[in-house]
Amino acid sequence: MTTRRALLTAGASPWFIPRAWAADTPRFALGVASGQPRADGMVLWTRLTGTDLPTRVDVQWELAHDEGFARIAARGVELAEAAWAHSVHAEPGGLEPGRWYWYRFQAQGQRSRIGRTRTAPAADATASLRLALASCQRWDHGHYAAWRHLARQDLDLVAFVGDYIYEYPSSPTALRRHSGGLLLDLDGYRERYAQYKSDPALQDAHAACPWLLTWDDHEVANDYAGTASSTPLGLDLARLRTAAYQAWWEHQPLAKAQRPQAGVMRLYDRLDWGRLARVHLLDDRQYRDVQACPPLLRSSGSRTLFARDCAALNDPARTLLGREQEQWLAQGWSLDRPWNLLAQQTLMARFSSDPAGRYWTDGWDGYPAARARLLGAAAERRVPGLVVLGGDVHAHHVADLKVDFDDARGTVIGSEFCSTSISSHGRKQAALDQALPLNPHMHLARSDVRGAIVLDVQAQQLQARLLAVDDPTDAGSPVRELARFVVDPKQPGPQRA
Ligand code: FE
Ligand code: CA
Repeated sequence: MTTRRALLTAGASPWFIPRAWAADTPRFALGVASGQPRADGMVLWTRLTGTDLPTRVDVQWELAHDEGFARIAARGVELAEAAWAHSVHAEPGGLEPGRWYWYRFQAQGQRSRIGRTRTAPAADATASLRLALASCQRWDHGHYAAWRHLARQDLDLVAFVGDYIYEYPSSPTALRRHSGGLLLDLDGYRERYAQYKSDPALQDAHAACPWLLTWDDHEVANDYAGTASSTPLGLDLARLRTAAYQAWWEHQPLAKAQRPQAGVMRLYDRLDWGRLARVHLLDDRQYRDVQACPPLLRSSGSRTLFARDCAALNDPARTLLGREQEQWLAQGWSLDRPWNLLAQQTLMARFSSDPAGRYWTDGWDGYPAARARLLGAAAERRVPGLVVLGGDVHAHHVADLKVDFDDARGTVIGSEFCSTSISSHGRKQAALDQALPLNPHMHLARSDVRGAIVLDVQAQQLQARLLAVDDPTDAGSPVRELARFVVDPKQPGPQRA
């Protein structure tokens, strides 16, 4: 790297010195990313770094057919503004379907690294899809060996389903500590994203392929529901959410039209992958009702309770997605593709920890009527190849989906793959081992490993490889295959391969 001293000794003229100072500050320290691949375009992202940036900076971007940028497919200029953390969201259009592209940015005399991205296949094209499912990457709990591995897996797409950052302060003994304390304002959220995005393995994973992202609770505050906080601290959750949603948009490959306004942001979306699959991406935080029967002296928040002790649990009026999103989903299934992949935050299959019915209220088990509505509507429409993808619980789960989980002989209408965390700690495996026999629709439950799931989707079969990081405290740790399942699109339910 060229330093100021090197430039001076090389005889640079005095007018060049201020530029040399500026050149010492890396402008693309958070890497690059892309997202939301369509048949004709995608979103390209970066954010300029440095405290000495002007309020408004022009950023050039270019997208090429080749890594050497010999054949440019599109280029443009975006304005990066201090009010939006100098983030850049470029949206090239008119591209060819089903192709790989390379992109980079330029500003303030510096160039970003090169990212690789792609368009979705044309609507009528036969296609295959290799997708990684990931969630929960708590910085102070472990390193990102899972990302290091995934960046080399020739993925078409990453689906990240929440807890990209965590809002907590770190304990002094943490493996690597969060900078700053509990997140309470825009500057805090920005700094936390910048810290997470400083990780080279995460940067490589973003640069390797486009991502689809949804959030869970920790991008704002633990267990929040709509604008209700789960803490008794008297936090103004609406104000916190406004700051957190802005920082989320600033740091992810999201479209300009999605920029949040007054703490509201449309995130749920769908994406067609040729004739193969429709991917539905949900938001189960922004519109949800508060958790049923919250802890003592609180108006919301989760706990684990016996269903018999909480009449509100089964209230059909309660919703996890909100009425609008529920209807949007029920009307948007693809009936002419073999697969409908439903990427959302948390475990959908029932997971009772007692024969009498004991449930954790922040996940779908806390909204059983809404779950039955969603799955019932899908069963009624005979939605082909329903595969639910989730995260949140820091454990690998593989399950059959049923409209009524209490009916042991009930029809299986879909499959579920819920990925364990990239790095966040999991519950004790013994608790899951004890609960597993109470949930015969559940094929596997492993909270003792960190990792992700890689899905290979083809018209005739979907294959899921559950990954496990050998040592989450080692950034260079090997990653192994823990188990493999397949799904036949004509016969719902995962089968061990
Ligand atoms: Fe988490
Ligand atoms: Ca969560």
